[in-house]
Amino acid sequence: MKVCIDCGVEVSMRNKGGRCHPCSVSNPERRAKVSAALHARWECWRDDPEQMERVRTVSRKARTAQTAAHWCPREYADYNRKLKGRGFSVEERKRIIAEEQARDEKRRLAAMTPFERQMERLAKGARLVDVVPMRRGDPVVTLGGVSAGLL
Ligand SMILES: [Zn+2]
Repeated sequence: MKVCIDCGVEVSMRNKGGRCHPCSVSNPERRAKVSAALHARWECWRDDPEQMERVRTVSRKARTAQTAAHWCPREYADYNRKLKGRGFSVEERKRIIAEEQARDEKRRLAAMTPFERQMERLAKGARLVDVVPMRRGDPVVTLGGVSAGLL
């Protein structure tokens, strides 16, 4: 069994550095080494416009990959990724996520009291509406007790 040289936690037999991941990451020696290596690489790249353009393209791609599905709400991004992994097409995923979203919204509204729902509607800009009674009013006059409305 191999253990971390800093904290004694068991590490994989294939571990080469001798430290577990948390210790390795927080090890100041290693941090300095990694930082120096990155710095050196950066110094190299800075003078090479072609390489800089390549770096920019890669980071742009990485950024767009993270937010690739602009149609997909953020809270469903993981779900979208899972569906994508299972081989669903974009159209199918859009439909599935729209359904899921509608279901979640329905569930959320069902968990609220009617008062809370009304308050939310007001907060979203709903206005009070006059209710006009559609029932015909009582007749103003009668003919000998027979309602004019009945004539
Ligand atoms: Zn450790």
